[in-house]
Amino acid sequence: MRILKFGGSSVATPQRILDVVNIVSKARERNCRAVVFSAFGGVTDQLIAMARQAESGDEDFTRSFKELELRHISAARELISVANQSQVMGQVKMMLNELEDVLQGIQLVGEFTPRTLDFIMSFGERLSNYIISRTLTDRGIPAGYLDARTVIRTDDRFGQALADMETTRELLGKHFAKHPEVQIVTGFIGSTNKGVTTTLGRGGSDLTASILGACLDAEAIEIWTDVSGIMTADPRKVRKAFPVQHVTYEEAQEMSHFGAKVIYPPTMQPAMAQNIPIWIKNTFAPDAIGTLVSGEPDKTELPVKGISSIGHVALVRVQGAGMIGVVGVAQRIFGALAKAGINTILISQASSEHSVCFAVSPEQAALSRQVIMAEFDFEVQRGRISDVIVEDNMCVVAVVGENMRSTPGIAGKVFQALGRNGVNVSAIAQGSSELNISVVISRKDEQKALIAIHDAFFLSGLKTVNLFFIGVGLIGSTAIDMLHKQREKLRETLKVDLRIIGMCNSRKMLFDLNGLDDDGWKQQLEAKGGPMTPDTFLKHTAELNLPNSIIVDCTSSEEIASAYERILKNSISIVTPNKKACSGSMSRYLALHREAARRDVSFLYETNVGAGLPLIKTLQEMHHTGDSIHSVEGVLSGTLSYLFNEYDGSRPFSQLVAEAREKGFTEPDPRDDLNGMDVARKLLILAREIGLSLELADISMEPLLPASLFEAPDTETFLKDLPSVDDAFKARYEQARDAGKKLRYIAKVDANGARISLQQVEQSHPCYGLQSTDNLILIHSDCYSNRPMVVAGPGAGPKVTASGVVADIIKSALR
Ligand code: ADP
Ligand code: ASP
Ligand code: MG
Repeated sequence: MRILKFGGSSVATPQRILDVVNIVSKARERNCRAVVFSAFGGVTDQLIAMARQAESGDEDFTRSFKELELRHISAARELISVANQSQVMGQVKMMLNELEDVLQGIQLVGEFTPRTLDFIMSFGERLSNYIISRTLTDRGIPAGYLDARTVIRTDDRFGQALADMETTRELLGKHFAKHPEVQIVTGFIGSTNKGVTTTLGRGGSDLTASILGACLDAEAIEIWTDVSGIMTADPRKVRKAFPVQHVTYEEAQEMSHFGAKVIYPPTMQPAMAQNIPIWIKNTFAPDAIGTLVSGEPDKTELPVKGISSIGHVALVRVQGAGMIGVVGVAQRIFGALAKAGINTILISQASSEHSVCFAVSPEQAALSRQVIMAEFDFEVQRGRISDVIVEDNMCVVAVVGENMRSTPGIAGKVFQALGRNGVNVSAIAQGSSELNISVVISRKDEQKALIAIHDAFFLSGLKTVNLFFIGVGLIGSTAIDMLHKQREKLRETLKVDLRIIGMCNSRKMLFDLNGLDDDGWKQQLEAKGGPMTPDTFLKHTAELNLPNSIIVDCTSSEEIASAYERILKNSISIVTPNKKACSGSMSRYLALHREAARRDVSFLYETNVGAGLPLIKTLQEMHHTGDSIHSVEGVLSGTLSYLFNEYDGSRPFSQLVAEAREKGFTEPDPRDDLNGMDVARKLLILAREIGLSLELADISMEPLLPASLFEAPDTETFLKDLPSVDDAFKARYEQARDAGKKLRYIAKVDANGARISLQQVEQSHPCYGLQSTDNLILIHSDCYSNRPMVVAGPGAGPKVTASGVVADIIKSALR
């Protein structure tokens, strides 16, 4: 025989009930003899809320009652043919009247006991099972309604009653011997030997099915719910979770104990005692295989089967020097807690014995402290126990799997995933069975921790990386398009899944946890984006608290750069072509590197100098290999390179600048290129990369233009004034040309400092032959002393810069 159970989500609406009727009808061929149903989805919660409302004299309970009444009556009306309706409706109304009477009673006396609450909750299952059983018979499927209170005998621990298996077996045996048709059995409820209604604990209909299975020696128990089995994690918290085909009873118990709501933890016990397999199946996808829970050795060979979490616990820490080496402390702590009826979720004690900590539900935190303070009153008075500290707002994340046993490296993987993402671990517990590693962390990090650990174990190395783009101008948007094109390839080859979760321009910002659509992201940002301020964008990014997050700053904004330290402190990596941070104060430069190292996140800015050319990385690598760098010298500005390469005296310098501006080769205000500041900032960054401690003011710079030109009130006026330098430029150009040389704006840093000047270079100089926006950098070092290392190529332009940004993103993602 088989026992089926359908949860509240499977019978939430009449339409769903009809799907279930279909499944039940077919299941008869598989020897299904009993079907357990929960209350209609949400009804138990409503009943509890109503009892509370009635208790507090809140008249709203009558309105809630009417809603509940209507829901059941209209379900009966929809499901049962007119011919049979009046009889069913009569029964339903009778039950509802009884419920109303009890609620009114509560309102009158202004209180209710756990016993009354169990009685009130029982109406949920009684109503749903009655209506469903009549729906079946109405459709010609012989079925009996079985109120479990007549067959499941329990103790009187209201709200969490324990079944007396022996008596229950007897009662069930007798009932089933007399009733050959499918029995529709109310889940969740039972009764004491005095006939008082009890409940088995929230989610307890699963247990009802298991009790029935064990007492009736069933061949299998099927738990039908709204997901296709026990999944690797709660699918509401980890989108990539997937169903596991097989778990052992112990694994299922451990996962559900630590929060996997899909099955009620005590369900496993009766089934396990009789070795009855439990199948978890999906009502909405009946053909999906589902999960088999059994005592069979594992078939999947996965070291970890699942990751679950209890979203809110309190951590209680008892500490004091007087506990070291003293026998019986733990026994007293947990004895006192047990006496007060406090359930400990997890316990951890370091071998120093200086402190013991344990997790309890937040409602029991204050009481736990009180109980322990009272138990250790003597020790507290004498300072042997210094304090009992309660940390609320914590959660527990548990990693479960039988194959973890004696598999090295599991804990390492868990803690690496957490550490990398800035998740601080407050307590750790691993049972010696090695079935479960549990960590207590801050509540705000729950989802991040789940996703990071899930990625580490289940996605065969596929790492999800979450990108947040600030600035989607030319460089930002080119980088986004490149990422979209490469995404699939990167998933396959490098096992990284790069998803753009947030983006903004100066006006709008948009976030989408599913990733911003490959095509049409620009339109989406315009159409759906909310108002943007850097602060709100960064705050929201931090609050999302996703693992492996990278901010990609494609602006040139000082405001964003000044937030870098805060970003890194949140364990978020930074990739940026924005030079402002690295060319700001030396102390900030150092602080950013220090913070990135401390949090083990990336701070990458290869495109600060030479766009996509491998320059900063080369200098860093030379530095790491112990090569001592003597000097770095060359042309660092793509814009200025272009101007001097194009200038041949045939048209005025001012005209060339205007043309270059129109082609987008200069900054919107060409003064930003011509004032040499861009080159100075780049040189400063290179100087710092080779270990020099310089500030911007330390760089000596030969101005390209007279200072007065820079005082023009706007760009147009500047361009109008610019012809005043045309003659001088022409003269300098001709002088160089006549000597067989070319003009190059060259930056150099060595032991004597950093300087930038307009130089005439001769034909043998590597910078002589530069073209277009080329950059060229010569590096002299111990290893490259006679002949320098030369890094050269286009040093400006959206494509090369964006590809450098994407390369940095990939580098960060692969860490
Ligand atoms: P029912 O109404 O059928 O009793 P529940 O809501 O009690 O269903 O349990 C099913 C829900 O459990 C799923 O919808 C899912 O959101 C949640 N859940 C949490 N953890 C897991 C997990 N590891 N695997 C599957 N489901 C899980
Ligand atoms: N209806 C009960 C509850 O919501 C039992 C169950 O659904 O399993 O807790
Ligand atoms: Mg359930």
